[in-house]
Amino acid sequence: MGSLNQFIILERADEEIRHKYHATILSNVKITISKENYLKAIAEAESEGETVIAATLARWLNVSAPAVAMAIRRLKRDGLIQVAAQGEITLTRAGRDIATRLLNRHHLIERMLTEIFGMEWYKVHDEAEQLEHAVSEDFERHLVERLGTGQACPHGNLVGLDRPEDRRQKGLIPLAEAPGGTSATVVSVFERDRQLLEYLDTLGVRPGARFGVMNQNYDQTLTLKINGRDVPLGRTAAEKVWVRMADPSARM
Ligand SMILES: [Zn+2]
Repeated sequence: MGSLNQFIILERADEEIRHKYHATILSNVKITISKENYLKAIAEAESEGETVIAATLARWLNVSAPAVAMAIRRLKRDGLIQVAAQGEITLTRAGRDIATRLLNRHHLIERMLTEIFGMEWYKVHDEAEQLEHAVSEDFERHLVERLGTGQACPHGNLVGLDRPEDRRQKGLIPLAEAPGGTSATVVSVFERDRQLLEYLDTLGVRPGARFGVMNQNYDQTLTLKINGRDVPLGRTAAEKVWVRMADPSARM
């Protein structure tokens, strides 16, 4: 009986220690993650052609203005960002190094999840948002060895972060601009919106998919012909899908 009581007391003490330890780890991780996320958000917003100010980050990361103000002060103090007189935020060399490292790891994790584990393309971005912070240099090297470099992620995006003008230079256009009576192949999709990705997946609009663009309708929708079915797609979604038009001689 005595030993059982002792055991219970020990268990409880152990649990308390574990609890405390875990809480500390969690809060430490959280601070680091949010700093990294700010830096990555700045790089990402830049690549979407946005001028980055505090409000951009509040919207991008879905956090309050006071939280962003505090983060900006810290990042500036740590020499990771510069803030111009008009409030424009840019990454310093050190800040960009951290953002680039995260973007690389994000890309590799997404590819690992789809190419090695067969995870659905519309799920892997969210998963990578978590895991990218935990990748060591060693693990990253193994991922590169296994997966190689230079390939697009499951959303068709390159690791270097293409800006809209870079995509246009490669001959891509947003699906929203595709004229009726043509055919298009999806090259890449804006990946930071899980609901959009799931929606597009149910329609069959995913990287590599080829379909007819039947009509640009008066109500700002497009009618697509996917696997023999007429599929309507709204403009907001169509603006986030980049396509390559088929040769006009191969019109549908
Ligand atoms: Zn991706």
